[in-house]
Amino acid sequence: MTTTNPDIVSAVPTRLLIGGQWRDATETATMPVEDPSTGSTLCDVADASPADAMTALDAAVAAQESWAAHPPRQRSEILYRGYRALLDRQDELARLMTLEMGKPLAESKGEVAYAAEFLRWFSEEAVRIDGGYATAPDGKSRFLVMRRPVGPCLLITPWNFPMAMGARKIGPAIAAGCTMVIKPAPQTPLSMLALAEILQEAGLPDGVLNVVTTSRAGEVVEPLLRDPRTRKLSFTGSTAVGRILLEQSAQNVIRTSMELGGNAPFIVFDDADLDRAVEGAMQAKMRNIGEACTAANRLYVHASVASEFTARLTARMSELRVGRGVDDGVQVGPLIDEAGRSKVQRLVDDAVARGAKVEVGGAPLPGPGYFYPPTVLTGVATDAEMHHNEIFGPVAPVTTFETEDEVVTAANATPFGLVSYVYTRDLDRALRLSEALETGMLGINQGIVSTPAAPFGGVKQSGLGREGGRVGIEEFLEITYVNIGLG
Ligand code: ADP
Repeated sequence: MTTTNPDIVSAVPTRLLIGGQWRDATETATMPVEDPSTGSTLCDVADASPADAMTALDAAVAAQESWAAHPPRQRSEILYRGYRALLDRQDELARLMTLEMGKPLAESKGEVAYAAEFLRWFSEEAVRIDGGYATAPDGKSRFLVMRRPVGPCLLITPWNFPMAMGARKIGPAIAAGCTMVIKPAPQTPLSMLALAEILQEAGLPDGVLNVVTTSRAGEVVEPLLRDPRTRKLSFTGSTAVGRILLEQSAQNVIRTSMELGGNAPFIVFDDADLDRAVEGAMQAKMRNIGEACTAANRLYVHASVASEFTARLTARMSELRVGRGVDDGVQVGPLIDEAGRSKVQRLVDDAVARGAKVEVGGAPLPGPGYFYPPTVLTGVATDAEMHHNEIFGPVAPVTTFETEDEVVTAANATPFGLVSYVYTRDLDRALRLSEALETGMLGINQGIVSTPAAPFGGVKQSGLGREGGRVGIEEFLEITYVNIGLG
């Protein structure tokens, strides 16, 4: 069933972008893109075969040498024009994103701006790629250190931030002088196709950015990683898929950047400013309908403030308006698909079976669309599955604690280490926690840490490498060191 979406959806290219041309997939295969708030099809996009993906890699390889030779200032200006264009078209792009992904329009607008900021940040970095010159310790030679583009990249992105996760890989790749094949998630290809068209219009040469949409991720990606011309993989997605891709990358010793799953603890101490803690919890939990690897997944609240914190959080969660993201005033959209929603329900049922109490929510809402209500659970046992598995939905499980040592041990009792949140007014404690928590990022009295200007990434099984900040571009640069002998 196709619904009418005469506006933005029909204006977006729906074919593969290869070598600067929009092309059909082999045998003109297509796949449907669904609106998760209605379950109906928005449009069909090209469904690439492994051969199509190889053609895209051919195009990236063909463009690499001349792109690397492009003056950094020109690469910078293309990114800057892309930044401006995203902001100019923020409203229509937000609508497109909401239609394919479900999040409320205000959040989609926020994501378009966030994606734009990555392009601006890396437009500034493109002209700051430096090197080094040094005298050897024995004085007999000189060292020259150069940074050069790593080469053709494969970028794989998830559906939860369909444009920003692409922009934060494409931005540094363009800035560094790398060409790329990008494979967006099959649920949300439209935002990426729109971004690619905008970058084309901003002057990106043919073949620098190639977009391959496909429903056959595993089949399409593996040959690209087996091809020695692919020099870099940057992946954002689940730890399970990341592990497979790391194994496949090992064959050719491909450089990898991995942004994988999280299991963020959100810790509220007895000295916290509760207004700020509740506000932060709403942001850390409900941003993106809870479908974020940075989402607060375990709320640990000091026993002495737990009932007050929970009452306030429950009141706030109960007030949120659930509905189609395109409708005015909606604050919580649908989950991405039925699999995502059933997983959330399974985790809630498991927690309840282990003694948790449902304060609000706790059961799926009637369709069409994959709606799940904002939910607060209290008394969640530490062996509940949701303490060990990303919820990826609007469910806040609250557990109480008594001592700092106890909560640090609990927070670290996970193979993940992406982000943590701590609410306290005690500076010593904040510093102790900064050192004790096994985490790539930490928000202190702060419910959102993501920004293009800081290094985003995790420790342990949450990933490898960082995106954004000064180090973001390094992931796309290779170092060559030259030893110049003196006669
Ligand atoms: P999620 O469970 O949130 O969808 P995934 O890790 O499955 O996260 O997906 C993230 C990205 O990885 C998507 O673009 C998806 O198509 C892609 N992907 C999934 N499986 C594979 C695979 N075997 N090889 C390469 N890419 C994959």
